[in-house]
Amino acid sequence: MPDMQTTMGSAEQGLARIRAAIARAESDFQRPAGSVTLVAVSKTVPAARIAETIVAGQRVFGENRVQEGMAKFPALRTEFGPLTLHLIGPLQTNKVREAVATFDVIETVDREKLAAALAAEIARTGKAPRLMVQVNTGAEPQKAGVLPEETPAFVQRCRVAHGLTIEGLMCIPPADQPPSAHFGLLAKLAKQCGLAQLSMGMSADFEAAIQLGATHVRVGSAIFGHRTAAPADALHPETIA
Ligand SMILES: *Cc1c(COP(=O)(O)O)cnc(C)c1O
Repeated sequence: MPDMQTTMGSAEQGLARIRAAIARAESDFQRPAGSVTLVAVSKTVPAARIAETIVAGQRVFGENRVQEGMAKFPALRTEFGPLTLHLIGPLQTNKVREAVATFDVIETVDREKLAAALAAEIARTGKAPRLMVQVNTGAEPQKAGVLPEETPAFVQRCRVAHGLTIEGLMCIPPADQPPSAHFGLLAKLAKQCGLAQLSMGMSADFEAAIQLGATHVRVGSAIFGHRTAAPADALHPETIA
């Protein structure tokens, strides 16, 4: 299997390319310079490769699994200082304690039981991660997130019934549809809810998301190279079977 480094260029080069593209999109779409935060999605990426981008100045990362974030980021923080880590995958209530300890932003608040568990953990520890609500803009049955029509009431319940501060909305559009309608819908819902932050756009479509108001784009493969499998499996394909 060819080395990612030789086929895709270094993570540092990928990062520089994406930063330049974000700056260009901010300018093209009349967004203030620096108004879009790049969340570098480092799922399945080994810590050494993440470190390359930290040295190049990247401080904000996204992981989709609590355990993987816990496995990689404490050591990276010890070595490099404060890093902002976003949870961008589903959160089970039995992992809330670990998630609040490790993540600075939880983008995937999507049900009442989770909101209650987060409120209890925040009260217990005094540590409050920033929170976003995930919206299932395509109403896909297999996908997490609150349905669009239920979003304003859910955000309101998070605030009133659970005392949570919700900062924004996040979505993952259906893979087989043009994303812009979903980005537009998320922006409209955020406006209805009085929310300023929008996490939307990935490697293939972050520019369209910036055009439609994204404040956070979540970019993985365009920085770190394609994910074929978990790193250990990629090194030893014979162990998969
Ligand atoms: C993996 C992932 C991304 C990044 O996807 P790329 O196409 O690699 O940029 C963004 N958001 C979520 C929720 C993800 O799981």
